[in-house]
Amino acid sequence: MCKIQILFLDREFEHDIYELIKAFYPGAEFHISYSEEEEICGTVFRVEKIGNDYEIRYKNEEHKGVVHAEVIEGQTRDALISCIRGKDSSDSSAGSSARGESSGQECDQNCKESEQMPAAKRSQEEMELRKQNKDSIKYALYRILEKMTGRTLPWGNLTGIRPAKLAMGMIESGMTNPEIAREMREKYLVSPQKAALAITIANREREILKNIDYENGYSLYVGIPFCPSICLYCSFSSYPLKLWKAKVDDYLDALCKEIRAVAEMMKGRKLDTVYIGGGTPTTLEPEQFTRLLGTLDDAFGLDGLEEFTVEAGRPDSITEQKLMAMRKFPVSRISVNPQTMNQKTLDIIGRRHTVEQTKEAFHMARECGYDNINMDLIVGLPGEDYSMVEKTLEEVRKLSPDSLTVHSLAVKRAARLNMFKDRYQEMTFENNQQIMDLTMKTAYEMGMGPYYLYRQKNMKGNFENVGYAAVDKAGIYNILIMEEKQPIIALGAGGSSKLVFDHGKRIERVENVKDVSNYISRIDEMIERKRAGIRTWL
Ligand code: SF4
Repeated sequence: MCKIQILFLDREFEHDIYELIKAFYPGAEFHISYSEEEEICGTVFRVEKIGNDYEIRYKNEEHKGVVHAEVIEGQTRDALISCIRGKDSSDSSAGSSARGESSGQECDQNCKESEQMPAAKRSQEEMELRKQNKDSIKYALYRILEKMTGRTLPWGNLTGIRPAKLAMGMIESGMTNPEIAREMREKYLVSPQKAALAITIANREREILKNIDYENGYSLYVGIPFCPSICLYCSFSSYPLKLWKAKVDDYLDALCKEIRAVAEMMKGRKLDTVYIGGGTPTTLEPEQFTRLLGTLDDAFGLDGLEEFTVEAGRPDSITEQKLMAMRKFPVSRISVNPQTMNQKTLDIIGRRHTVEQTKEAFHMARECGYDNINMDLIVGLPGEDYSMVEKTLEEVRKLSPDSLTVHSLAVKRAARLNMFKDRYQEMTFENNQQIMDLTMKTAYEMGMGPYYLYRQKNMKGNFENVGYAAVDKAGIYNILIMEEKQPIIALGAGGSSKLVFDHGKRIERVENVKDVSNYISRIDEMIERKRAGIRTWL
């Protein structure tokens, strides 16, 4: 296995540098260190800050060199970018000076970084400068990696999870679509195809969100953390229902208490969308569903919502009684998630339901009157190749859902698939542009277009997750959570609320504990946490 050592003598951009190198070397064994020590064999990167100058030295058997990314105040971005282009390709130790400009939009890392920052917020100017540094380093590093590996990445040097948010920010700043495409290609080194995808989605998102009140409106997420069984690739905090059945009512007691408290806190604000997710919400029995939805209705008043989604999710948890219990409330959108229509794969990934059950659950939902049904698929599942994905898509086409969300498998550290990876070593995990193209082509043929997009760490093939939907069937909540335009208050164990400040420039999170028993016993503390967070937002 390829070994990579990264020596961080400066840690400010550790996360970005590590993610970008990892994207070029999927499956490599990484050794991260923070002080000079004996070098391991293989490929070595050494990151150091010398004054205002960030220096990355790199070497392996074929390549050796250094690049500098330096912030030079007063220069225009164009001049600086051409400066990077002019010099970064040399393999000499002469190095190059570089500076890019911040997108101001790079999502997840920025959120993480802002969480890790000292309590005293950096001034806007400092933040801007820092982002410029970050862009410079990523640009220069990408060019080195491209040369060392002979590869390019579809999303260029973007390591954040929301490329469409970057395009959205540029639209809002008055740039035209061709200008945005050029910026994405030249500055972030995104492929023309992916730049076009991000821009298409950003424009559709803007249209869908045009009636949403960013200032006074908010959305609600309600988490039900139980599942019929735990899928092999799952990294969520989900609890097998069989072991936790006796706790479900206690959980609902705590959840209903949190619902009532939050409704009081948000009085006078407009609730736009509600999303019940998990876990698997349909692990609740019909009467438990009625209790949960009734409490939401009493507390918030559910009439007039822009959207109310229940992620029914696992077909083996869906029954007619549950679907009918939901119909008594204004649930407007549900998901029935096959992930794959290949039984062999379902058995491998521990979904413990059949392809037939998926079809039955879908038809049952239609018969119960649901006219907006989403289906989630995963490509890159163990053992699945192009023809198996093709089969899944053909089966899905026959059902004709209203929207389709295509995920590229992302194996996180906590997933069993990662923990027991030796067991699955013999299996292929295939995802490539042909497979991604096939999913898009099929979605278009089904009358759907892309409407939201996000990326995750450790995605097979470094691709993306894309939501496709027919006209008027897009999931508004999905866009809101990606674009971070309005607060999303998350209720239940593991709920992570996002409070949006300064028109999306700053996001503060309020976290509930993940552990179900802790959530139940500490519910008053969770409510007080939320009260304190919401008070700063109000
Ligand atoms: S259904 Fe979803 S939340 Fe539940 S175990 Fe599977 S992947 Fe995890």
